[in-house]
Amino acid sequence: MLVNATEMLKKAKAGHYAVGQFNINNLEWTKAILQTAQELNSPVILGVSEGAGKYMTGYKTVVGMVNGMMEELNITVPVALHLDHGSYDGCLKCVEAGFSSIMFDGSHYPIDENVAKTKELVKIVAEHNMSLEAEVGSIGGEEDGVVGMGECADPEECKRVADLGINFLAAGIGNIHGKYPANWQGLSFETLDAIQQLTGDMPLVLHGGTGIPADMIKKAISLGVSKINVNTECQLAFAEATRKYIEEGKDQQGKGYDPRKLLAPGAEAIKATVKEKMELFGSVNKA
Ligand SMILES: [Zn+2]
Repeated sequence: MLVNATEMLKKAKAGHYAVGQFNINNLEWTKAILQTAQELNSPVILGVSEGAGKYMTGYKTVVGMVNGMMEELNITVPVALHLDHGSYDGCLKCVEAGFSSIMFDGSHYPIDENVAKTKELVKIVAEHNMSLEAEVGSIGGEEDGVVGMGECADPEECKRVADLGINFLAAGIGNIHGKYPANWQGLSFETLDAIQQLTGDMPLVLHGGTGIPADMIKKAISLGVSKINVNTECQLAFAEATRKYIEEGKDQQGKGYDPRKLLAPGAEAIKATVKEKMELFGSVNKA
C-alpha cells in the first residue's frame, strides 16, 4: 500500500541519510525501481512529472499501475507516489487520482502568491493523509519547459514557506536539472546551512541529483538534505544499455526483437543505477 513521504523523511533526517526519489516513465521504470527498493530493503519515492503523467495517459493510469504492481510483486517497503514539480491544477488532479504525495512548484510565482497557493494545498493534503513538498528559489535547468538559472533560495523565504505546514522543502542551492555544465560552480553549502538553521527539523530536498559528485551529496545530507531526486541518470543508463543491445545486433538474433528482451538490458541498467544511489544516500536497510 502506498504511504505518504512524511514519516520516511522525518526518519531520514533524524538518521542522517536520504531517501531517493526516482522518476518513472513507464512499466519497466516502475518495476525496476520497486524491485530494487525491495531487494535493498529501502524506502523509496516514485516521482511523476506532469509530462510523464500525460505520457502514461493520466494520473489514474499511474496509480492503477503502481498499486497493482506493488500487490503482484509483494512490495512491503514504504513507497510514496509523488507528483514532481506540480502546477496547482496538477496537484488537485493527483489528490483525486490517489497519489500519496505531491510537490507544488510555485517557485515561479512572486513569494506572496507561492505562499497563498501552498497554504491552500496544505489544507487539502491534510484531509487526504498525503504529504506536500514546496519549492522556494527556482532550480536551474529545464524541467518540462520551465527554465531556471540555478539560483540560491533566500533562507528567510524558506523559513516562511516551511512554517506553512508543508512536510518537506525544496530550495535552490545552485543545483540544476539535467546534465551539469562544465563551468558549474557546485552546491552552495553556505545557503544550505543557513536554510537548515532557520527551518530546523524540516526535511530538505535536493533536486537535480544527476552528476553531483558523491562527496557533495554526502555533505548535503549532513546539512539536512533528506530527499534526493534522480531522473536524468536513469534515463542515460537506460539509453546506453538499449543502444548497446541494438548496436550489437541482438534484436536481429533469434527472437531478440521481443520487447521483453529488447527492454531488459535498459531495465537492468536502471536497477544498477538505483542501487548505486540508494547505497550512496544511505537508505539501504532503512525500510
Ligand atoms: Zn526537480
